[in-house]
Amino acid sequence: MTRTKLMGVRDPHGVRPLVLGKLGEGWVLSSETCALDIIGAEFIREIAPGEMVVITDKGVESSFPFRPQPSKFCIFEHVYFSRPDSLYGGRSVYETRRQIGVELARETPVEADLVCPIPDSGVPSAIGYSQESGIPYALGIIRNQYMGRTFIEPTEQIRNMGVRLKLNVNRALIRGKRVILVDDSVVRGTTTRKIKEMLLDAGAKEVHFRIASPPTAWPCFYGVDTPNRDKLLAAQMTEDEMCEHLAVDSLKFISLDGLYRAVGEAEGRKKDCPQYCDACFSGEYPVRPADQIEKGFELKAAE
Ligand code: SF4
Repeated sequence: MTRTKLMGVRDPHGVRPLVLGKLGEGWVLSSETCALDIIGAEFIREIAPGEMVVITDKGVESSFPFRPQPSKFCIFEHVYFSRPDSLYGGRSVYETRRQIGVELARETPVEADLVCPIPDSGVPSAIGYSQESGIPYALGIIRNQYMGRTFIEPTEQIRNMGVRLKLNVNRALIRGKRVILVDDSVVRGTTTRKIKEMLLDAGAKEVHFRIASPPTAWPCFYGVDTPNRDKLLAAQMTEDEMCEHLAVDSLKFISLDGLYRAVGEAEGRKKDCPQYCDACFSGEYPVRPADQIEKGFELKAAE
């Protein structure tokens, strides 16, 4: 941005989102539509993959300076990154997440008394799971609303409380119940294990995890800070081994095809040319991570 120009460029695969809005006589560029709502701007359109816009007092000038590439929007934006009050392709992120819960309930049914989200990102998927399965939805875990809103520096002892400081079990509700917990992903598995322990301490009879994304077995090199492969639980273990390692009654993930259906691809994932980037689940990177390969990263062997 200069005094007279606002410029925006979206990467040729459109991995990350970018939208254009209008506020009075001015223009706005933002990753998500929810930011436009907050400042009272009108959503005009998404910037296309590979598009560059130069905005001056004459208006918006659009060009496509890069060689065209197949679109590979990050599928994990739908699951976790974006806010549920944003829209992509005219579709609400909230509705997509609810639909992920519906698919998850169809693919991984289990008998239980309650469906509870891990707040906040698990909420819409847990609602979808509950609606599809007919198992009541309830807030079995409560997020501490006051975290991060204090000017008092937490002591070492408080920091060590970790998950317990952020999330607490609604004991009166959980006692004696078979509980399905819906979460967005399992990365290292440490939070999953702690939450399970908290539920068992509160007297839950059974704890079943249902995950709104496929197993995260590969790191992201496109702007997301994920750990190395050796720290990713799903890179080290099968689904059954993870279930045993976390000592939960069951652990199931949505399939890649199920996730694609939930984001609006009725036929599922096109194997030869996937409609999204899903590298952290499939190990198929749409842009070769050349710098990482140089540092010793090994790509998935061809099947
Ligand atoms: S690797 Fe995963 S998180 Fe990264 S851009 Fe692709 S889908 Fe998104």
